[in-house]
Amino acid sequence: MRMQTQPTASHFINGKYVEDTAGTPIEVIYPATGEVIATVHAATPAIIEQALEAAKTAQAGWAAMSGTERGRILRRAADIMRDRNHDLSILETFDTGKPYQETSVVDATSGADALEYFGGMAATLTGEHIQLGEDWVYTRREALGVCVGIGAWNYPTQIACWKGAPALACGNSVIFKPSETTPLCALKVAEILVEAGLPAGLYNVVQGLGEVGAALVTDPRVDKVSLTGSVPTGRKVYAAAAEGMKHVTMELGGKSPMIVFEDADIENAVSGAILGNFYSSGQVCSNGTRVFVHKDIKEAFLTRLSERLADAKIGDPMDPETSFGPMVSKQQMDIALGYIEKGRAEGARIVYGGEAIEGDGFYMQPCVFADVTDDMTIAREEIFGPVMAVLDFEDEADVMARANDTEFGLAAGVFTRDLTRAHRVVAGFEAGTCFINSYNDAPVEAPFGGVKASGVGRENSKAAIEHYSQVKSVYVRMGDVEAPF
Ligand code: NDP
Repeated sequence: MRMQTQPTASHFINGKYVEDTAGTPIEVIYPATGEVIATVHAATPAIIEQALEAAKTAQAGWAAMSGTERGRILRRAADIMRDRNHDLSILETFDTGKPYQETSVVDATSGADALEYFGGMAATLTGEHIQLGEDWVYTRREALGVCVGIGAWNYPTQIACWKGAPALACGNSVIFKPSETTPLCALKVAEILVEAGLPAGLYNVVQGLGEVGAALVTDPRVDKVSLTGSVPTGRKVYAAAAEGMKHVTMELGGKSPMIVFEDADIENAVSGAILGNFYSSGQVCSNGTRVFVHKDIKEAFLTRLSERLADAKIGDPMDPETSFGPMVSKQQMDIALGYIEKGRAEGARIVYGGEAIEGDGFYMQPCVFADVTDDMTIAREEIFGPVMAVLDFEDEADVMARANDTEFGLAAGVFTRDLTRAHRVVAGFEAGTCFINSYNDAPVEAPFGGVKASGVGRENSKAAIEHYSQVKSVYVRMGDVEAPF
């Protein structure tokens, strides 16, 4: 399959592609072969200024339009994205290395879902009326202004839409900086929004490394920052935003628990563990990488898991049969392989895989460790690769304490047939996004986000509106004003 939709320049500002070759070149590498497939240039100060000016200038007019008009444009963009799903999926596969089998059903489609959902919601965003005797208060739900989105590299189309759609629905303008590892997909989102009728300047994309993100975050014209990234980056960006008293959404990393009780349907629990550890080659923030399995079913679970993993088809991500692709970069593969070495050295037992695969591209086998204990590095740190840690447990109270004993709190899951236990366990999880007898579902209708070090705010659902708008309160006096003198 060929890339037919490659963007034509590095940045998208004020409704069109913009280039400035004075910026540091960033090579875009196809993870399946290691080949350079494109080069973009990091934003220079002049490009950053253009984007900020465009976003600031366009925002007021957009906010003044009715929600119905704004929403219509977003819904039209959703339709265009769905029509072009095939080409956008191929681009996503070139950008990330994720198999077409995944990208064709997850990336542009979930981006389109967000545009459709928030497009539909735009017309419903209202304030309220509060009667106080004959006086009254009304509230106006207003846009924040200029929103900066900064993305990670694992879901470049989805992240660009998850941030852009609610921001635009609420009347904001957006400047999005993709990860420098996957710069291409967000440009297509910008192009499609303009094609759908979005006025110029409202959705801009600028490329660059962390310093470009940092320059955007600290600019006084920016009112809100939404980051998807690691906890260390989140700490820096949150602190920089606080300096300017800006709104933030932080979607950060995790080390999420999945608990499999002795009464669980083992086949479903194995499916959940596969989805929650090996989809996108394990490069998913909400993955349930600490799989606590009850001692009574541990061996049955591991046996079935190994059998199922042997069915994974590792290879060319463009082949629709391929179900496990390369890592996004050599660097990310080396990080994951380094953790596997640590796991071995600290005494965990490899049950499956764990080796690099010789040849072109950044391929490694999925890896399952058993006999993992809570203090091991592979049970404490986010790996962001296909490395599952299986830990034993016998007692519910004990496993809950262990599940919550982490600085992170993004997601958590439980597999059991006991209804009461399922809800009790979920209530006890210190995590923002939970699953019962499932793992990693992320429909746009459901709030998504973390607690503790995993983040602040929520994406998707009605909850996202609170993070992209603010309420103005207006007191209306109907009679005379009484003053003390
Ligand atoms: P990073 O934290 O390295 O980077 C995230 C983004 O922030 C990148 O665009 C990066 O630019 C930018 N950035 C880095 N430093 C700064 C700075 N000082 N100021 C402003 N921007 C900056 O994360 P990764 O890209 O490596 O993504 C993996 C991480 O993302 C994992 O921890 C994962 O859990 C998390 N994640 C969280 C999700 C969630 O929704 N909770 C979803 C997906 C991933 P650049 O890299 O181009 O230099």
